[in-house]
Amino acid sequence: MQEINAAPNMQALDILESNVRSYSRSFPAIFTRARGSTMLTNDGRKLIDFLSGAGTLNYGHNDQEIKAAITEYLASDAVVHGLDMATPAKLDFMQTFKSVILRKRDLRYKFQFTGPTGANAVEAALKLARKITRRQNIVCFVHGYHGMSLGAIAASGNRFYRAASGIPLSGATFMPYDGYLGPGFDTADYLRKVLTDEGSGIDAPAAILVETVQGEGGINVASKAWLQSVQTIAKDVGALLVVDDIQMGCGRTGEFFSFEFAALSPDIVVSSKSLSGYGLPLSMLLIKEGLDAWQPGEHTGTFRGNNLALVSGTAAINIYWRCETLSRRVKHTGDRMRGRLEAIASRHGKGFAVRGAWNGIRV
Ligand SMILES: *Cc1c(COP(=O)(O)O)cnc(C)c1O
Repeated sequence: MQEINAAPNMQALDILESNVRSYSRSFPAIFTRARGSTMLTNDGRKLIDFLSGAGTLNYGHNDQEIKAAITEYLASDAVVHGLDMATPAKLDFMQTFKSVILRKRDLRYKFQFTGPTGANAVEAALKLARKITRRQNIVCFVHGYHGMSLGAIAASGNRFYRAASGIPLSGATFMPYDGYLGPGFDTADYLRKVLTDEGSGIDAPAAILVETVQGEGGINVASKAWLQSVQTIAKDVGALLVVDDIQMGCGRTGEFFSFEFAALSPDIVVSSKSLSGYGLPLSMLLIKEGLDAWQPGEHTGTFRGNNLALVSGTAAINIYWRCETLSRRVKHTGDRMRGRLEAIASRHGKGFAVRGAWNGIRV
């Protein structure tokens, strides 16, 4: 591979790229290569990548076995793009996912491949919940994050992002997340109260949309008891439980699904980020059997389930999810990280906290 031979020239970005760029500001370097957890810059630095594509690279950069699967696929002239037409790559992905991930966990879902972004999958989930329930309101949580398109951002808390939408955002009601009002206050009690009180002013929800650990919102960890209460409340008020597992799924918190420790059975699971295993864009919904109320083509898109990402996603499942090694390594590495980070935090004194979770246990 030819290295970029210019000295790091972040000024060129200033001239060429929109002001909207963000991570290149926090990490002012030109990144040339990556392998596993390390990245190289064009001025010869070797860095550990703790950002990991915000949870997109759970198996590291350029996993060699996954790379072999996609290079072989490319070399064979197999179909890379075919809208959502049937290919062996897609069938293989669904069959592998079903047998290795779903069947073992006694979960029964249908697959919907959406446009490549997590936001598009969230949009599809909200549309489907509204269609099924004929209700509009989505209950979501303070500090939640679900993506940048208008439906997803309407259910996301961040004021800066919301303001950038430029139009009124509607159809969502924010509730306090687990722990938001301090340790002595069970916010699920409040949720139940307002959703079952005809006079609360909160419209009956189509869905309760929740992250098991809030990622962008600052690594806020929900407890098993709280998540189970939220599931029960959703059922009692006739709302779908939608778990946004985009950032916390695929092993980020230990198990494949971040809700396994809480024994949830979501009506819809939204997955993306590490789903392709290689940083390739791939997003999907898992829809509980019996809730697949879509008409053919009712939610469409050019890049639904791109075959290269399906091939890398299948390889990732075969390599990492047929055994427990990865899950155990997540805990081991997490424990080591916590130790080091706590030492750093204590040197900086008050205001610095270490937060994280392994299977629902706050670490
Ligand atoms: C990243 C993220 C999204 C949005 O995914 P995009 O691919 O950026 O659209 C939605 N929900 C959660 C929890 C995320 O972390």
